[in-house]
Amino acid sequence: MPVVSLTDERTWFWHEIQHAWIIARMAELVKNKSLAWKVSSQGLHDFLGFEGKILLSTVMEDELLDKLTLKDYAEIVAAARPDATMVPDVYTYLDDPLCLSWQQTIKSANLAKAFSGFDVPVVGLVKGAIGKQVAWSTQNIVALGYQTAALPCRELVRLDLLDGMLMGIVGILRKRTREPRLLLYGLSYPLGKYQRELSYSGFSWFINAKRGLYQKQGNVCFLTDTTVRFEECGCVACKGKIALDLREDVKTLALHNPSADNWEARVDGIGKAGVPIRRQIRTWWTS
Ligand SMILES: [Zn+2]
Repeated sequence: MPVVSLTDERTWFWHEIQHAWIIARMAELVKNKSLAWKVSSQGLHDFLGFEGKILLSTVMEDELLDKLTLKDYAEIVAAARPDATMVPDVYTYLDDPLCLSWQQTIKSANLAKAFSGFDVPVVGLVKGAIGKQVAWSTQNIVALGYQTAALPCRELVRLDLLDGMLMGIVGILRKRTREPRLLLYGLSYPLGKYQRELSYSGFSWFINAKRGLYQKQGNVCFLTDTTVRFEECGCVACKGKIALDLREDVKTLALHNPSADNWEARVDGIGKAGVPIRRQIRTWWTS
């Protein structure tokens, strides 16, 4: 699922390419009052001119998280009218003292409980600094009836901890849900494993394009790279062009990047628009 920018229309690609879901960031609405006003007067769909589904991400910088109350979240979501949102984020750092990361993990669980009665489909957020916390957080999300969980994973990738965490999370989801689904937030290339469970989201497709970087099967390379430069790409953006043809064409490159890695996989399970989450909750807890 491509993350788009509400303030940069170059990321609004839907006139050229269809994606079932996109992600907009609540952080942009919190930081920019005039943008928030415009979006709330129209709703996200009309503001963006996008007819697909929109997930409003709550992942944001710590200083913004501290400002928001539960009521603020509810008001922003009600005004923006997305098709789904996420449980509010908390900050857990891998090098925090354990008592602090437990505090944040428990806070996240309480937020998940508060949002499980929300009137818009909600994606649970898996949080935690160590395996035990992440497992506890995942079990809690499942117990509350969330159909889809998201894992913010930029820091996990940076510290090379993603694989270990995923093994634990996917294991729990497989055991306790009928259709395990995990959205990796901040990772826009496929891992090549857990193909049934994982979907991907990120903004790197656009950042990479601005830097002249070309995505192919989870790898990123320069357009002049010998492995891609003369290779024709059959994606909906390139339509047979070779990578070198995109040197002066940031727009096509930006459209190629999210098309290249088949982001559409398994993103249709987040929730049905307009169906209150209460009615979607199923008892998957079998053990
Ligand atoms: Zn392409």
